[in-house]
Amino acid sequence: MLTRRNFIEQAIITPIQAVAAAKVFSFFPINYKPKVIIIGAGLSGLAAGYLLSQKGIDLTVLEARSRLGGRVYSQTIDENENLAVELGAEWIGASHQRVISLCQELGLELHNNQFNTHLLYQGKYFRQNEWDFSDACNNKLDNLLQAYSNLSEANKMKLDKIDLWRYLVDNGIKDKDLDFIELIKSTDFGESIRFASAFLALDEYVESQETYHMDYKIKGGNSKLAKTLAEKIGRDKILLNRQVVAIEQTGRSVIITCANGDKLAADKVICTLPTTVMKDIRWNPVLPADKLEAIDALQYSRINKYATLYNRRFWQDESFDLITDGPAHYFYHATKNQVSTKGALVSYTIGDKADIFARQSNAGRNALVESALKPIFGDTEQYALKQINHYWGNDEFARGSYAFYGKNQWFNVRPILQRKFKHVHFAGEHIADWQGYMEGAIETGEAAVAAILG
Ligand SMILES: Cc1cc2nc3c(=O)[nH]c(=O)nc-3n(C[C@H](O)[C@H](O)[C@H](O)COP(=O)(O)OP(=O)(O)OC[C@H]3O[C@@H](n4cnc5c(N)ncnc54)[C@H](O)[C@@H]3O)c2cc1C
Repeated sequence: MLTRRNFIEQAIITPIQAVAAAKVFSFFPINYKPKVIIIGAGLSGLAAGYLLSQKGIDLTVLEARSRLGGRVYSQTIDENENLAVELGAEWIGASHQRVISLCQELGLELHNNQFNTHLLYQGKYFRQNEWDFSDACNNKLDNLLQAYSNLSEANKMKLDKIDLWRYLVDNGIKDKDLDFIELIKSTDFGESIRFASAFLALDEYVESQETYHMDYKIKGGNSKLAKTLAEKIGRDKILLNRQVVAIEQTGRSVIITCANGDKLAADKVICTLPTTVMKDIRWNPVLPADKLEAIDALQYSRINKYATLYNRRFWQDESFDLITDGPAHYFYHATKNQVSTKGALVSYTIGDKADIFARQSNAGRNALVESALKPIFGDTEQYALKQINHYWGNDEFARGSYAFYGKNQWFNVRPILQRKFKHVHFAGEHIADWQGYMEGAIETGEAAVAAILG
C-alpha cells in the first residue's frame, strides 16, 4: 500500500542495522572512515551525529544559532518553579517509535501529554464530551477513511491533486462540521485545510488513530533530547554560532565556509537545513535546476506560540485544551504534569492568524488571549504574570514551522529534495516519511548516515 510511511513499514532493517550492513557492502575501502560535516544541530543533525559517533567516525556539527535543537525549543517560563514550555515541537506520538526508543536508550522519561478538547464556538462554550461532529458527518468521515484505505496507488496520487477542503465539500461535509474540521486540522498543518493535500490529510488520519500523535513529551522539556544527543556526540564536536554561507565541492572533498570566516574540509556533508534557508548558501557548483525549482516550490507553514504564565491554574483540568473560532485559535495547558500552583497556557495560532499574532505587541496579544478566555473564565488578566512569544514564520533560521506540501507536491517535489548532490546528502523533517515531526527529522538523519556509509 502506498502511504507516507512506506519507508518505515517496508524497511526490514533499522538505521543502525543499515549502518552495520553498510560495513559489509561499503564502496569505501575496509577501515576507511570519511570525515563528515553535519550542517544544523536540530534533531536530524544530532541524530546523524550520534550514529556517526557510535561508529567512531570523525564528525563536526556546524550550527548557526547560539543554541542546540533547532525547531525543538524548550524555554523555562518560571525559574523558581522550574516550569518549562515548548516554543517548537510539543508532542511525541505513541507511534513515533524512533523518538521513543531513543529516549529509552538515553534515559529520558516521557510524560503523558494528551488533552481533553473543549470548544468555544460562536460564543458558546462546550466542555469535552459536550460537542461532536454530526452523526451524518461522522458516518461520512468513516466511509471516506475506509474508502481511502482501499484506494489504488494511482487514485491516491490523484487525491494528492485535490485540497482537503474541496474534497470534504465534494463529499457533502458542510456548515458546522466543516468549520470544526478546519479549526482542528489546520493546527496540524499550520495552514488552512483549503491549501492542504487531501491525500496527505487522509493518510495522516488513517495512521494517527484517536490522539493524532499527541501523546507524550519529554520530562524537563523536549530540548533534553537535543542536549543529551549532543553530550553523547561530544560538545567539542558541535560548533555553535557557525552559520554556513558557502559549500564548495571540488573533486573528492567539500569545503564549507562559515559566516565568521571558518573554513572546514570534509569527505561527506549532511545538510539538514530547511529549504527556506538553503538558497542563502553559495553553492559551487550550483544546485541542479530541478532541485532549485523544488526548493522554490515548497512552502512552510506558519505557527506562532504565545505562552502566558499565570499565578493559578484557573482552567482546573490538567489536560485542558481549547479550540476556538477566534483569532487566538487554540489553547493548551503547556505545564501539564509540572508540579506548581502556577501554570502556563499557550495560544497556538496558524497561517494568517499566526502572522497577525506575531505583529502585535504583548499588550495586543494579551487582549486577544483575554477576550478568548473571558466567556469561560471571566477576567484572566489578574492572574497573568509573564509572557513569551515565538513566531516561526520569520524565525531567521527556519522561516516557517515545518514544510507544507500543497496539492500535487508530495510525489513530485519531495523525491527531488531527497536526492543527494555530489558529496552532500540531505536530511530533515521536510524530506521525511514522518514529515513535520521530530520522528521524521531523526529518521532522515540516520538514513543519511546509512547512505554515506553504504
Ligand atoms: C511550532 C512548532 C510545533 C511543532 N510541533 C511538533 C510536535 O508537536 N511534534 C513533533 O514531532 N514535531 C513538531 N514540530 C516539528 C519538529 O519541530 C521538526 O520536525 C523537527 O524539530 C525538525 O528538525 P530538523 O533537524 O529537520 O530541522 P531543524 O530543527 O530546523 O534543524 C536545522 C538546524 O539548522 C540550523 N541552520 C539553519 N541555517 C543554517 C546555516 N546556514 N548554517 C548552519 N546551521 C543552520 C538551524 O538553526 C537548525 O538548528 C513542530 C515544529 C514547530 C516549529
